[in-house]
Amino acid sequence: MRADCAKAVLLAGLAMALPSNIFAADCQMAVSAQEALVFSRPAAGSVIKEFGDQYDEMSKSKRFHGGVDLEGPEGEQVYAARSGKVAEAGKKGDLGLYVRIAHGSGVETGYGHLSAISVSAGECITGGRQIGKIGATGKTSAPQLHFEVLRDGKPVNPLDFLQ
Ligand SMILES: [Zn+2]
Repeated sequence: MRADCAKAVLLAGLAMALPSNIFAADCQMAVSAQEALVFSRPAAGSVIKEFGDQYDEMSKSKRFHGGVDLEGPEGEQVYAARSGKVAEAGKKGDLGLYVRIAHGSGVETGYGHLSAISVSAGECITGGRQIGKIGATGKTSAPQLHFEVLRDGKPVNPLDFLQ
């Protein structure tokens, strides 16, 4: 057997032994929640609404806010907070144009109220890549980024994990 042929057989064996998300060269998934819960800022703007029970201007009452809102302006770039795989990209109710990225170990980030989306579901992306632009789609009074962190589908405070 020629050397390159033996290598191909070896690689095929490895591909079967490893989960596909680890084998894919540009789809870096965290192997633990501890590793997954480290994020860079998805946008430059300051926090204008925090996580948790917050007064809601529109409903004139306290409502649970499952993320933080970062100030616009409209059209400002939005970046992936870490590497992962796009799980969702499209319209999502009050969150307007929305992107959700899976980072491995049940950790995901979500980005809402976007004016444009530049990734597709199923795509592997590296942290810091542009995924869309800040907007005011969905239920919002001004251009802003709704940024959320999900652990096994439940929202946790993003400010606890931003670098
Ligand atoms: Zn929000």
